[in-house]
Amino acid sequence: MLLPHQPLQEAAVPSPRISSARDQAGPWHSEAVCRRDEAGLFFAPSKEPTAARLSREEAAKRVCARCPVMVECREHALLQPEPYGVWGGLTAAERRVVLARRRRREAELARATRVAAAG
Ligand code: SF4
Repeated sequence: MLLPHQPLQEAAVPSPRISSARDQAGPWHSEAVCRRDEAGLFFAPSKEPTAARLSREEAAKRVCARCPVMVECREHALLQPEPYGVWGGLTAAERRVVLARRRRREAELARATRVAAAG
């Protein structure tokens, strides 16, 4: 099974990251618009200049915007978490921000629950 935005040439080369993601992936993969990322939009080549990276990421996000499984893909990338590439319309840096907000909200909720339980 090909993963979303897995280049064809990588499909025959098992890697721990791809195997791990595949093992925990849901059926949403089969609907991914980016199943064959032959343009290399979703992952940065080495030593990519900033302007090129921003342009590539915006192009990847445009693909994600028309993907029917964007929500599932985004949650997968947040829960794994996937450390690289554009997933679910978010870059790795944007996912880190989302995860930090979630952790902060969970900590606030836990604190409020403890205060309420203490009376
Ligand atoms: S949301 Fe983007 S990265 Fe995720 S499966 Fe769809 S096109 Fe691929």
